[in-house]
Amino acid sequence: MNIIIFGPPLAGKGTQSKKIIENFGLTHLSTGDVLRTEKTKNTDLGKKAEEYSKEGLLVPDELVMKIVESFYTQNKGNGLLFDGYPRNIDQAKHLLDFLKADNNKIDSIIYLKVPKNILLERAEKRAIEENRKDDADSNTVITRINEFSSFTIPAIEYIKETGINTVEIDGTQTREEIFQLIIQNLKK
Ligand code: AMP
Repeated sequence: MNIIIFGPPLAGKGTQSKKIIENFGLTHLSTGDVLRTEKTKNTDLGKKAEEYSKEGLLVPDELVMKIVESFYTQNKGNGLLFDGYPRNIDQAKHLLDFLKADNNKIDSIIYLKVPKNILLERAEKRAIEENRKDDADSNTVITRINEFSSFTIPAIEYIKETGINTVEIDGTQTREEIFQLIIQNLKK
């Protein structure tokens, strides 16, 4: 089973992803985590990505597409949970096309919906609790939310229109309530 989890920054994708991979035995691919690790290692990829992510902008497609393809090649025997990829329509087409070329597919997508004012409150909290630099500056957080609205929502619509099972969840509920809804709707 391959799943994509969508949601604006601070929607709770990371928390739900951990529960999903444990429960369904999936392998987690978070492009944001990969880019943060590359940045810590000070690689060319990490430095290049940081130019964009420090402003809250999406990094260029060719950088993330390479990460996703190489991760897929190494892990394709497993079911995958894509977290933070795709982020726009071109990335969505890229993912669906290369899965299809490998006789594989996305089974379901999950979309966690949270209003902007709550996302901003959560950002303030996470900046302190997890020392996340990208959450500390409210302008950067607003840019990331706007990037989600401008580019990622159209990607969700694109995937939905292909007929893939789409599970939309109110992400302001408790972690456990959200997870129960995910389980119920993925089992269908
Ligand atoms: P995340 O932890 O998923 O919110 O990602 C952190 C940052 O990494 C984002 O704000 C982007 O700058 C970058 N990033 C992660 N995934 C992608 C992607 N699929 N496309 C473009 N940029 C990405």
